[in-house]
Amino acid sequence: MDPARQRIGLMGGAFNPIHLGHLRAAEAIRERHSLDVVVFIPTALPPHKDAKPLAPLTDRLAMTSLAIEGNPGFEVSDIEGRLPAPSYTVTTLEYLRDQCGDKAAIFFLTGMDSFLDIGTWKDYRRLFSLVDFIVFTRPGADASKMEDVVKGKVSPDYQWDERLGAFTADGLKPIHVSRIFELDISSTEIRRLVAQGRSVRYLIPDPVREYIYSKGLYRRDGNKEKGNP
Ligand code: ATP
Ligand code: MG
Repeated sequence: MDPARQRIGLMGGAFNPIHLGHLRAAEAIRERHSLDVVVFIPTALPPHKDAKPLAPLTDRLAMTSLAIEGNPGFEVSDIEGRLPAPSYTVTTLEYLRDQCGDKAAIFFLTGMDSFLDIGTWKDYRRLFSLVDFIVFTRPGADASKMEDVVKGKVSPDYQWDERLGAFTADGLKPIHVSRIFELDISSTEIRRLVAQGRSVRYLIPDPVREYIYSKGLYRRDGNKEKGNP
């Protein structure tokens, strides 16, 4: 990461696979919050995803690199593959906070569904003294629950500041809330379509689609010969 950059967005996720919902959310937030860059950070072993079929990190990194090609405002980081497993957001953010130096403002980007789940993340309260959060809306995730989660799980000191569009508290970093144009796309749905040999065109970037089919990712064995819908 370029140390001259001042406003850095970090977006963690399984990206299993990355899709247009992720990319459009990151682009909207980058623009709205004047971020110099959004860095996508595929997680090595997402602690919440044990039950789901997870493509190897190398494949998820490769697909993310293909997806962001041509956008100078996007980068991908393999940091979670280099830090000791298991990967927890708090460890990654502490490491990157150090790397970026004091001058950089760091924003952690997360969709509403992930944020509402924050109580299950390891040492999550520490995150809120490390980096600003930007939470963006997502279809199916109830934004009206956010205040209860912020005050009940993170800290009762947080108060909504209408002017900033953020929850703020002394000694803690702001939690910004951003309404975006919502795209109802999920990796779960894409994996399901691929497993059934159905088309995923216009849900993920074409190079990612080609990669999935060339590697045979997410297919049920019986569908392997079906080609690339
Ligand atoms: P899965 O269905 O496997 O959980 P997913 O589509 O939810 O996959 P993740 O990798 O779990 O994708 O999500 C990474 C981050 O992107 C999370 O913060 C999540 O809230 C956000 N996100 C994922 N899809 C969307 C979407 N369509 N719109 C807005 N945010 C999204
Ligand atoms: Mg998810």
